Amino acid sequence: MPDPPPFDVPESALAAARRAEGLALCPECFGRLFGRLGHGLTNPERAARLRAALGAPGADPGPACVGCAGLFARTEVWVERAVRAAEGFEWHRFTCGSRWEPELLAREEALWSDVGTEWGESLRSAFNRELGKQIERRSGAAGGPERPDVVFLADLAVGRVEVTVLPVYVRGRYRKLDRSLPQTRWPCRRCRGRGCAACGGTGKTYSESVEEVVAAPFLRASGATDTRFHGMGREDIDARMLGRGRPFVLELVRPRRRSLDLVALGAELAESARGRVEVVDLAPADAADVLRVKEASPDKSYRVGVLGDVAVAKVNEALDLALARAIAQRTPTRVAHRRADRVRTRRIVAARLVDAARGRFTLDLRTEAGTYVKEWVEGDGGRTEPSLAGLLGVPLKVEFLDVLEIHDTEGT
Ligand SMILES: [Zn+2]
Ligand SMILES: [Zn+2]
Repeated sequence: MPDPPPFDVPESALAAARRAEGLALCPECFGRLFGRLGHGLTNPERAARLRAALGAPGADPGPACVGCAGLFARTEVWVERAVRAAEGFEWHRFTCGSRWEPELLAREEALWSDVGTEWGESLRSAFNRELGKQIERRSGAAGGPERPDVVFLADLAVGRVEVTVLPVYVRGRYRKLDRSLPQTRWPCRRCRGRGCAACGGTGKTYSESVEEVVAAPFLRASGATDTRFHGMGREDIDARMLGRGRPFVLELVRPRRRSLDLVALGAELAESARGRVEVVDLAPADAADVLRVKEASPDKSYRVGVLGDVAVAKVNEALDLALARAIAQRTPTRVAHRRADRVRTRRIVAARLVDAARGRFTLDLRTEAGTYVKEWVEGDGGRTEPSLAGLLGVPLKVEFLDVLEIHDTEGT
């Protein structure tokens, strides 16, 4: 066997290798003492070259290795545990890590200082890398930190691999045509979701929601255990959501299948949700889309039906006044139980009287995000100032409210 080619080793590293030569170290651990020298080599390759340079062949102590107790000879056991932990789940990308007893890692640092090496690579990072390479080989999946489907954690002390299955995200826009549907599941207040007489054992205040209607085919197709629905804001339960629909991200928790046929699921949804919810623009998404949807604060357009006996000219006059100044809105009474009580400043961006009949009229409004439209019309007992009722000097009541558009994209 020809000698392995030499690599550039400082004299001080060679001296440290000579001190390490007397210890029971496997090739992986011997090479790892100098892991930050000789770029591109594996640790056993480093060991072979250093030992050749020392003229000492060395032996593999196996389980008696003082560096790893034979761990690197048994990595395939850990690969097997990882692959088995993820059985039944579809995964194409993964990350792996490991949990160690602190004494083991401390012992390694003592070994470094005994030997006098300043080039050591830690047991943990070498093991994680080796495990990753072998899982790649075994499964055909790609290892790396970018958007993993599963995360493996090898617990060295317990002898077990834990797997975390990351969610699948799907985005889209929904229209809601049913004035009885809340956007998300609404746990029963009395029993907090456990099921009681008040909610007929369902644990819910409303029997269904946009979330449940939209999620149903995705739950079935993915085998997920649960869903989370992230909407770009939400409309009142009795408000329809029209126009291009409201952007949302559906999060499928712990899915068994990740390759979803969005065209087929969209068609299935169109059938099952007919007349209640319509979903368009379905596309794959990721966790960053959840943030984007949560943080967006676009203008909204509404159509509001108002009950109140006012002359058309008066309404137009009041709308001109309303457009000219900002509104101060104190947190409405109806949401005060779940939102902090404070005063927000908002603007009505555009307002137009659409039609009027005796005792009622219809408005189209465009408002800044976060404007409480019902309260702006009715006044909320003086908590919104000015309000349309206040400007007109007559009591008003919102008869219906529809969201006509979410202006979340440029030029809308
Ligand atoms: Zn070892
Ligand atoms: Zn209940």
